[in-house]
Amino acid sequence: MADVIVIGAGLAGLRCATDLVAAGADVVVLEARARVGGRVWSHTFSDGQVAERGAEFIDGNHREVLALAAHLGLPLTTRDAEPDPRATLVDAGGRAVPMHLHASVAADLGRWEAAIRGLDADDPALEVRTLADLVHDLSVPVMSRLVIGREIRTEFMLPPDEVSQRFAAQVAGHQAPGERERHRVVGGNDRLARGLAEGLGDRVRLATPVAALDAAAGEVELAGGERLQAQAVVAAVPLPVLSRLWPALPMALGTLAYGVGGKISVQFARRLWRDYGRNGTVVSDRQWGHLWETTDDQPGDRGVLTNLLASHDGAAFATLPASPDVLVKEIDRLFPGAQGLAGERVVTDWTDDPWSLGCYVCAGPGQWTAAQPFLHRPHGRLWLAGEHADAFTGFMEGALRSGARVAAAIRQ
Ligand SMILES: Cc1cc2nc3c(=O)[nH]c(=O)nc-3n(C[C@H](O)[C@H](O)[C@H](O)COP(=O)(O)OP(=O)(O)OC[C@H]3O[C@@H](n4cnc5c(N)ncnc54)[C@H](O)[C@@H]3O)c2cc1C
Repeated sequence: MADVIVIGAGLAGLRCATDLVAAGADVVVLEARARVGGRVWSHTFSDGQVAERGAEFIDGNHREVLALAAHLGLPLTTRDAEPDPRATLVDAGGRAVPMHLHASVAADLGRWEAAIRGLDADDPALEVRTLADLVHDLSVPVMSRLVIGREIRTEFMLPPDEVSQRFAAQVAGHQAPGERERHRVVGGNDRLARGLAEGLGDRVRLATPVAALDAAAGEVELAGGERLQAQAVVAAVPLPVLSRLWPALPMALGTLAYGVGGKISVQFARRLWRDYGRNGTVVSDRQWGHLWETTDDQPGDRGVLTNLLASHDGAAFATLPASPDVLVKEIDRLFPGAQGLAGERVVTDWTDDPWSLGCYVCAGPGQWTAAQPFLHRPHGRLWLAGEHADAFTGFMEGALRSGARVAAAIRQ
């Protein structure tokens, strides 16, 4: 019998296992996929340029991620994340114009950021109010509403009326202005996971999905029927996945919402958008929603545009077989000539992925407060780790922090 079974070799599970092994525990990590990293998954194009299918940016205040990169000797790029309103397009009603031409949009975005930062995460009244209410209170013109609505979908992967203000306040409380989206790992963020897994060696069993778990007995059943038991089991999998393994999952965790969607990245033979004086960032009222250049900090003649398919409309778009072609046509509408330069396309649908079943946690009214008592305590021999079990929800930082927290609790 191992001391600890960790389910899931994402950043949370890998970090938890690493800390436990360092403390002398006998640990086995069971991973369903044939790779580690979970929602951190990098794609390398033929010329070496990289696009992130999942987690892309590292904030300047994400200390655990930065420390891990330094520990593993992984170089980072640093970028200016503030989009230039002259180089950024707003695409509405089939017409794309630079953001600065919509007189109040940039200023209204600033007001929006201030409004979010002004929320008090400890105010229980905010639990039942949504971000739609907050946008309404700002009474901004329609074009600003469009851009702010898109910002919300990009951040939370759900629409404004499905995000509680209290949850949003907590997320905003852990973001440092000027430090957002500052870094990427050179060669791909999944080097973080691969680096941790290397240290664990054959303790990580790939292509080994857990089919069921018994929290009281500390027992798991593998898809092939094998049973394993341990003093403690750490479930470092997303909650919608956990609900399938553990029918006794408390209702407050089973009903906690997850953002939905995915990404399409397209490599172009050259960065045509720069010829037009643009940076590749486009905010649209169309289903595909939000586009940016992923290679803004990478060398090479080619360039990659990444489309974040956020929220219900984006998730629906991701399921269409023709979505990459439709997207390329849309990019050609924005930057005429792009279609002839389009090369490899990479599509990732996180909602339709059985080992994720969503993007990351995003609490609706009433959900976050209800879930708290169940997220941070053991359930028999079962502990919960993952981005959903930390204040830095929706980030690699939260995954690492949760893994470290659970390892420390088990060691006590
Ligand atoms: C589109 C998108 C964009 C994002 N952008 C960013 C960003 O810019 N910056 C950032 O910091 N974060 C971002 N994130 C969030 C970040 O990816 C996650 O917060 C983090 O990777 C979660 O790690 P985790 O270990 O909690 O879960 P996961 O990475 O999901 O790991 C869970 C692991 O469990 C495995 N598993 C599932 N079921 C089973 C089973 N039954 N048996 C065994 N194993 C199983 C999975 O295969 C997976 O490897 C983004 C996520 C998405 C989807």
